[in-house]
Amino acid sequence: MTKRSLVIALAGNPNCGKTTIFNSLTGARQHVGNYPGVTVEKKEGFVRYKDYEIKVIDLPGTYSLTAYSPDEVVARDVILEEKPDLMVNIVDTSNLERNLYLTVQLKELEVPIVLALNMADVAEAGGIEINYDLFSKLLGLKVVRTVGTKNEGIEDLLEAIIWVAEHKNQVSSRTVRFTEDLENVINEIVENFKNDVAFANWNYPLRWTAIKLLENDKEVVKKIKSLPAGERILELVSRKQEEIQSLLNDDAEMAIIEGRYAFIRGTVKEAVTEKGINKFSFTEAVDKILLNRILGLPIFFGVMWLLFQLTFTLGAPPMEWIESGFTILGEWVGSHMQDGLLKSLVVDGIIAGVGGVIVFLPNILLLFLGIAFLEGTGYMARAAFVMDKIMHRVGLHGKSFVPMLTGFGCNIPAIMATRTLENPKDRLVTILITPLMSCGARLPVYTLLIAAFFPKEVAGNVLFSIYLIGVLLAMLMAKVFRTFIFKGESEPFAMELPLYRIPTLKSVLIHMWERAWLYLKKAGTIILAVSIIMWGLFTFPMVDAQGNEFESAAEQMEQSYAGRIGKAIEPVIAPLGFDWKTGVALVAGFAAKEVVVSTLGTLYSIEDEEALTEEEDTTVKSFAQRAKEQSGYTPFTAYVLMLFTLIYVPCMATIAVIKRETNGWKWPLFTAGYTTVLAWVICFVVYQMGTVFGAV
Ligand code: GDP
Ligand code: MG
Repeated sequence: MTKRSLVIALAGNPNCGKTTIFNSLTGARQHVGNYPGVTVEKKEGFVRYKDYEIKVIDLPGTYSLTAYSPDEVVARDVILEEKPDLMVNIVDTSNLERNLYLTVQLKELEVPIVLALNMADVAEAGGIEINYDLFSKLLGLKVVRTVGTKNEGIEDLLEAIIWVAEHKNQVSSRTVRFTEDLENVINEIVENFKNDVAFANWNYPLRWTAIKLLENDKEVVKKIKSLPAGERILELVSRKQEEIQSLLNDDAEMAIIEGRYAFIRGTVKEAVTEKGINKFSFTEAVDKILLNRILGLPIFFGVMWLLFQLTFTLGAPPMEWIESGFTILGEWVGSHMQDGLLKSLVVDGIIAGVGGVIVFLPNILLLFLGIAFLEGTGYMARAAFVMDKIMHRVGLHGKSFVPMLTGFGCNIPAIMATRTLENPKDRLVTILITPLMSCGARLPVYTLLIAAFFPKEVAGNVLFSIYLIGVLLAMLMAKVFRTFIFKGESEPFAMELPLYRIPTLKSVLIHMWERAWLYLKKAGTIILAVSIIMWGLFTFPMVDAQGNEFESAAEQMEQSYAGRIGKAIEPVIAPLGFDWKTGVALVAGFAAKEVVVSTLGTLYSIEDEEALTEEEDTTVKSFAQRAKEQSGYTPFTAYVLMLFTLIYVPCMATIAVIKRETNGWKWPLFTAGYTTVLAWVICFVVYQMGTVFGAV
């Protein structure tokens, strides 16, 4: 029978036991020479195992795969040019984090790898315990425990080698993800390669090439220079390096190195327990507290609570300025325009509608500023780490929590942020539940209703309860989706734990602005359009079917197109305790949740025209008072309305983003459907129970 042949290469740090393993594998069948052109020892040997004739190449021991030393260049060239079938990466387990740095770089080369955790005896004696299964999943590699000096694990190693050789296509493509800024730059460079004919015959992985260029790797730069498009590419790279420098206050090379270590730190933290080893560094020390089993979660909730407090207290004054700014603008425009339809459109429609949304910009900016800052310091990664256990209970990964948190500001950037989740199922479930995170646009609805129906003392708690219900429902739905639609465990993967640092102001501001811009764009487009449409629906028809004027504004309101829509859906929402006006507002709220408030505002102010003209004070409070007087709702009904607003169909823009991110109409329609049904069922149960117990 002819044997199948395989070529494997052993890579590892100096003194990891590579030669020992090489000898165990190959016995006496080896020869030693030099690599052509350099005096670096070249050892090759053979081993027969099952159907295979395996050629083993012992690479020089290296810590890294840069182009700095001849040893590293030789190792890299063998991997890239001779293309062995697979790499066996031998690591010294007693010095795991340092050794894994090479592993991460091997993964960047996108070659199949078997990882031998050698010196396992030394590591175990030193109190290191490894969850091999988890470790293997996190790294996306076959992992084998070996003790080279005692020949332990050599058979397992051979089995693993053959398994990987036979299942190359199943090799996980998971590599290190760097920070968002770096990832963007890398992707941009890779896109450039893809669009360039000069790269048609490029023999190396594109992502690896981009990373190497950012690291100023001499060899790769030389190869790129020889291409027709070389100068242009190098120019792009140096521009991108400057961009990184100014964002991170660190050069790209350092940022890449730190990114690799962040990945390693996260992996080791999750799958390896070190007993009685006291390493001391600032990050280690802080992590002892922030990632503590008992303290971690309360600290995280504390930080979030503080973030919300700051957002809403610091946001209040500028919110009032913007509000009075829009009031003044409305009055000024009103006094400079002739009475008539156009004036009504500009003042009641456009200025009131768009203004009602811009008012919440300070809150949104502050929340995003806080999140961007926490991300920049490295704390957000820890938050995800801390949340991981809880998230696993509902079949999600801790990493899903960061996009969900962003959802408190606005669901649109939150759904886009799910791109950091590599597993498609995890990503989809996260997208589906993110709309349950109460976004900034829903806040004005709560603010209005709470101000109108609840005493000041409980206002904060009522608000908090709504947010909490949103989070709990999101968790519940994740579990439901995981159980019925996307079966299977979420795949574990390591979370990068970057070093703690003070982020640059520039990068914090840029990240804040990226997200806030989406919100503003929404105000300028969708909300503007909807304000005009809603104004039209309220204003027309201006006369009844016989051509006569309506007796009162209230009468006109009821007969307007909007009024008719409200009346039409009233039977559906009556069991939840809502009247037709609320129905109009909820329908309009599909455009943007803020519109629920502005619509109610218009409804109540039109009906109460006298009160409006007498009352100079058009602040939220008087608005709230009108709402209370005219709706006839009890605090209980108001609470049910808040619940409904929280849960029911996400806004148009969110649906559009879900469509874009999932490439089709299936999931956005599903989201719209399930949220609305869920909202109706929950509100129905709550309201009907409230009726029974006399709360209404
Ligand atoms: P290389 O530099 O990577 O080729 O490492 P060597 O194979 O020369 O091994 C370095 C030293 O570690 C030698 O003294 C080996 O006997 C020892 N060694 C190798 N593997 C193991 C192991 O699994 N356990 C222990 N305790 N010692 C090992
Ligand atoms: Mg050696």
